[in-house]
Amino acid sequence: MTERDTSPPPDFIRAIIAQDLKTGKNAGRVVTRFPPEPNGYLHIGHAKSICLNFGIASEHKGGICHLRFDDTNPTKEEIEYIDSIKKDIKWLGFEWGDHLYYASDYFERLYEYALQLIKAGSAYVCDLSAEEIRQTRGTLTEPGKESPYRQRSIKENLDLFERMRKGEFEDGSRVLRAKIDMASPNLNMRDPVIYRILKAAHPRTGDKWCIYPMYDFTHPLSDSIEGITHSICTLEFEDHRPLYDWFLDKLKVKSHPQQIEFARLNLSYTVMSKRKLLELVEQRYVTGWDDPRMPTISGLRRRGYTPESIRNFCERIGVAKRDSIVDMALLEHSIREDLNEKAPRVMAVLRPLKVIIDNYPKDKTEEFEILNHPNNPAMGSRNIPFSREIYIEQGDFLEDPPKRFFRLAPNREVRLRAAYFITCVDVVKDEKTGEIKELHCTYDPATRGGDAPDRRKVKGTLHWVSAPHSLPAEVRLYDRLFTKANPTGEKNGADFKAYLNPNSLEILTSSRVEPSLAGAKPEDRYQFERQGYFCVDSIDSKPDALVFNRTVTLRDSWAKIEKGMRRLSIFSFMDKV
Ligand code: ATP
Ligand code: MG
Repeated sequence: MTERDTSPPPDFIRAIIAQDLKTGKNAGRVVTRFPPEPNGYLHIGHAKSICLNFGIASEHKGGICHLRFDDTNPTKEEIEYIDSIKKDIKWLGFEWGDHLYYASDYFERLYEYALQLIKAGSAYVCDLSAEEIRQTRGTLTEPGKESPYRQRSIKENLDLFERMRKGEFEDGSRVLRAKIDMASPNLNMRDPVIYRILKAAHPRTGDKWCIYPMYDFTHPLSDSIEGITHSICTLEFEDHRPLYDWFLDKLKVKSHPQQIEFARLNLSYTVMSKRKLLELVEQRYVTGWDDPRMPTISGLRRRGYTPESIRNFCERIGVAKRDSIVDMALLEHSIREDLNEKAPRVMAVLRPLKVIIDNYPKDKTEEFEILNHPNNPAMGSRNIPFSREIYIEQGDFLEDPPKRFFRLAPNREVRLRAAYFITCVDVVKDEKTGEIKELHCTYDPATRGGDAPDRRKVKGTLHWVSAPHSLPAEVRLYDRLFTKANPTGEKNGADFKAYLNPNSLEILTSSRVEPSLAGAKPEDRYQFERQGYFCVDSIDSKPDALVFNRTVTLRDSWAKIEKGMRRLSIFSFMDKV
């Protein structure tokens, strides 16, 4: 058995690569690349591409995945983005080693290739404006019109292109176009622009250039220069593939990589385009690219997601050729599954209600030992202090409980997790507002540890913290960023921001956590019993003022969906019987 036999059946891309290896194409090499444009932070969609490209490389002996910044658009790109992209890829668990490249490093060679095209009569300088080029491009049903500059001599084209480089002409006054076919049924082949004049400084090449190559020209040539074997991209580039191949066929290149397209990841209840995410950042709908509500890698990280959970999610969704929207519940399921195993359990009271245990000695403190993980004793245990005054969750008490409410109520007995049974004997309210201020209870000393010797049962078990021992904390409850599953899919181009969830963040400032969290460090992750998974905020949390982010609640809607599907498939199986 080979290594790959243990993983799920290969997707269609891995199947193509396996076939290429079998037939000896590319001399047995597998070289992929991840080519982000540094004009924003990476999002979960990019993670799919990263897992695919770096994943494939790692599955083959000698396989390599390049990190290449596609930095051909100087006006939108920033060093901050380059740094964040590198950081996020490493955090996801992938390494490019020595294979870090920049398309801008190829500017000189790309210019040489452009000259080659001109000399071959396959490119010309065109003086039409951007608007005129658009207007003469034709439509899906009508051919385009040839530019009046299409028949310029090679000599004139060489002269003009060189002077474009020297900065003799204004932005937008001239472009270099490939000379292909204005009547092609594929619009991308209708003499596409390959160079434009843009007098803007580039983060890496400074003022050296005032002409910049277009993506469709840069990409195949960068792939070829680097000896990429399989150039994996998203479906919207399928129609660009003939152009990708045209450049490589026309020019004298050493290698001709194969472009393969797959469906991009779409996720419900969020948006995935960098332009839209930038809009949310710039217009301050979120606090930044790493806002825990963002679908960015840095946002998910700050929210408490682990690299493993994101990699597992990407493996689960698979790679296909058909566009679809993946349910956010599946991403949430992946982090729950991971944290269920890894996160130590602790007690935290998010909305505290003071409980005074009248018959418990005033100056007494005792400790209860609790396992850090119920199913994994190897994760150790800790001691939790208990005293006469504790906090419970406001929602765990009702003065007038409905039938199926099994938590605390007047004259009712419940268990305090790992401690004692208590019974509520009095409710103290604010005279003016009628708001419940504190509860008085009695405890049964015979139930120490949380069990009654007479085996009497209680229906509810509550989490709690000792009031004087607990630590104050701020807790940020995050919910989905949008109220609609597909905020960009609305008809008539309704603004996606109209569907922002006004309740995507609730900040609780008076929460209390058990004292064992005193040493909690940024990004430490916990399960707050009965509440969900939380992590220490990496930016705002301080040792003496802890801030926790809710990663995800405990309710698993995906598990329900899956169960439903299983039931469904049983039915369809029964139908067949
Ligand atoms: P966006 O549309 O979000 O701005 P992009 O495609 O312009 O994304 P790039 O920086 O060009 O962003 O993307 C780098 C790589 O990541 C490309 O190979 C692209 O195909 C891939 N990628 C981008 N978005 C997704 C996605 N949602 N699912 C899978 N792959 C993606
Ligand atoms: Mg792009």
